[in-house]
Amino acid sequence: MTTPGFGPMRLCVLASGSSGNCSALVIGEGDDAEVVLIDLGLSPRRTRKELGAIGIDFARVRRVLFTHFDSDHFHTGWIGTLPRHMTQLVHRRHLGRGERENVLANVSEPYDGPIVLDRVTIHPHVVPHDELGSVSFRFEAAGGGTLGFATDLGRVTGEFINHLAAVDVLAIESNYCPRMEQESNRPDILKKRVMGGKGHLSNQQSAEAVRRIAPREHVVLLHLSRQCNTPDLAAAGHAGRAYQLTISRHDRPTPWIPIAPSCQPRVVPRVAATLFD
Ligand SMILES: [Zn+2]
Repeated sequence: MTTPGFGPMRLCVLASGSSGNCSALVIGEGDDAEVVLIDLGLSPRRTRKELGAIGIDFARVRRVLFTHFDSDHFHTGWIGTLPRHMTQLVHRRHLGRGERENVLANVSEPYDGPIVLDRVTIHPHVVPHDELGSVSFRFEAAGGGTLGFATDLGRVTGEFINHLAAVDVLAIESNYCPRMEQESNRPDILKKRVMGGKGHLSNQQSAEAVRRIAPREHVVLLHLSRQCNTPDLAAAGHAGRAYQLTISRHDRPTPWIPIAPSCQPRVVPRVAATLFD
């Protein structure tokens, strides 16, 4: 699995959107590299296929980290089929739901603070989404390089900005265009859920969060609505950017995105921490 030119970590979003979310994070290089999946929202068959397409043997995956358990983040095809060697990393607040929905076959010690692995420390932060919230993550590789990963967040808080401030690479959702959402034939209750502060971020809210977080090298836009967004609309808020931009898709993986310490100066956003809820 050695890929020359990549740093201590690399990310590939296998697919993202309301039809299924799954990303692969590789930590380290060579045969002892660790593979962590973020969410399991694709069917087992498709997960194996997309991993194979990017050169990763499914048997190499040791851990799965969950943002939350909505069906586009945990595919029911995994119930009863999760291989024994895969440890599920689940936030303490999602344990009850996980038990009720029978998705915790291989759960490790649940977390509500930093997860320290050999080569990376993962800092979780709960963001507003429906009743239980979703979890955003800041990955800090021992060898340098930081990744922020945030999807399914209803709104942006100062604490969230501080949590992901100045990461080298930021993957963040850019779910909908407000005009398309308003004009869609979706039921009002769904529009309210999406736009009401406990659903998803619009393109504008996402671009504003990116501006405040000030990522240094690369931004990956996640979870674009197929009905109420387009890649061009999502990209529009990033005109004149200093970072690279990748837009994830529902139907195929992104290229590998290297995560290494940036040479760009660190701009620390000046935001006051505010509590949410
Ligand atoms: Zn989702």
